[in-house]
Formats: sequence, C-alpha cells, structure tokens
Amino acid sequence: MLCTLSEILRDANERHYGVGAFNCLSLENVMGALEAAEELHSPIILQLAEVQFPEAPLELMAPLFLRAAERSSVPVCVHLDHGQSFETCARALRLGFTSVMFDGAALPFDENVRNTLLVARMAKAAGVDVEAELGRVGDSGVDTADVFTDVEESVRFVEATGVDALAIAIGNLHGHYIHTPQLNIRRLIEIHEANQLPLVLHGGSGTSVEDFKACIHNGICKINVATAIQRGIMKRICQRMEAEAEVGYIPLKQVMIDASREVVAEHIRLFESNDRVS
Ligand SMILES: [Zn+2]
Repeated sequence: MLCTLSEILRDANERHYGVGAFNCLSLENVMGALEAAEELHSPIILQLAEVQFPEAPLELMAPLFLRAAERSSVPVCVHLDHGQSFETCARALRLGFTSVMFDGAALPFDENVRNTLLVARMAKAAGVDVEAELGRVGDSGVDTADVFTDVEESVRFVEATGVDALAIAIGNLHGHYIHTPQLNIRRLIEIHEANQLPLVLHGGSGTSVEDFKACIHNGICKINVATAIQRGIMKRICQRMEAEAEVGYIPLKQVMIDASREVVAEHIRLFESNDRVS
C-alpha cells in the first residue's frame, strides 16, 4: 500500500530499526525490491534522485513506482531523493510522490532553512512529507571531518522548517567507498537526543555491519541504498554472461530482478525491518 514517509518512519523511530530507501532505475529494480519487501514483511521506500532523471525520467518512473506501491501488500513510500530545486519537488508532488527530499545542504545555513521551508510549506499543503539535509555528506575520497552536522544547528533547523526527517552527515559518504568509512556515532546520539524526528543516513552502501547496527539503534530510521544495488545487479549480469556463451534478453531481465531482490533482502535484514508488518 502507498504510504507517506512519516507513516513508515514513526514505527521505525519508536522500535529502533531502519527502513531501506532503495534507488530504483528500472522495472526490474522495482519488481525485485518489492518482492524482497513482501517476502520479508518489511516496509520499504522506493526512491529516485534528480541526478538519475536522464536515465530514469521522473514522469516515466512515477507511474511505475506508484502503481507498484498501491498493489503491494506492504507499506511503500514513493520518495524523491535529492531534489535540487523547489520546481523539482513540485513536479514530484504533482505526480503523486508521498515524500520529497529538498537538498539544500550545500547552501549557507540560513539559505538552506529558507528554501527548505518553502518546499515544506508546499508539501504540507499537499499532504506530503519532507526530508532535508544539514551538514555535508561527503563524496568518496574527501575528508568529511569538518562538515559533520552540528547539534545546535540541527535543533534550530528542525524548529524553523518543520521537516519530517533529517539527513545528517556523520562521516558517511556517497558512492562507492575505497575504505570503509568510520561513522561518528557519538555525534549521531547527540543529534538524536536533541531532536525527536527520524534521522536519515545517506551513502549507505559499504558501511560496516557494526556501524549500521549502531545507527539504527541510535536514531537512524531511513537508510539510502543506491550503489550496492547497482553493483549487485552488475555482478550477477557479469557472472551469467561468463557462464553462458549466449544469454537472452528475457533471461537477463530475470537475472536483474533476482539480483535486485537479493540485495534489497540483505539490507532489509541488516536494518532489521523484516517482520514489522503482517
Ligand atoms: Zn544522498
């Protein structure tokens, strides 16, 4: 069933588990992800980032996401990941997304507040939830120590914008890691204690099991997973093509569905969101 982000994250926040937010770029991706969620009785978030629009246009993906969510037996949130402008968030709202992220983390604090607030007011009027980001989630190879989310700023930000979920920077990185990142769990605990709202971890692919567990037990309720799915699917495609001289297109589609299901299932178990819905 189609749900809002708050509906899904409320239980995760109360019972200390994480819900995976999986970036899906194809029909096979979506089918595999929802099969995993249904098999494991887990809520799930399907998401698409604005930078992915060239390969997966928003207007084409929205009906797929929404129809898949509506016919699913588990709660599904359809979320815009890293919306870069008010206009993009408005497009996602109009198409029926139940949650949007406005990413103003690169902006100065006051400008991030102002722009996030505009999106939040529009979204609230439409009954849609909003995720925002404070602090800078690093990119692979960049030192992130000086860009961790500040605790006091997080309180001011949440109060000023009224967002439903906040993505924080605690040493997490986007993309494929060369080294396993060390997350600052102490900072996470401080942010969680100062704010009641569900927190979000971006750059989930490649984090250690211990850090994932520490995150979900200390306030992280939504974890974004993109790179791990893409790598999992490519690995299975390569294996299949090495094993067989000629692979047909249709069997290859099934390989992609299966790989997507396996990677998503693995993360659902890791985040402990399995068996949370009947
Ligand atoms: Zn992100």
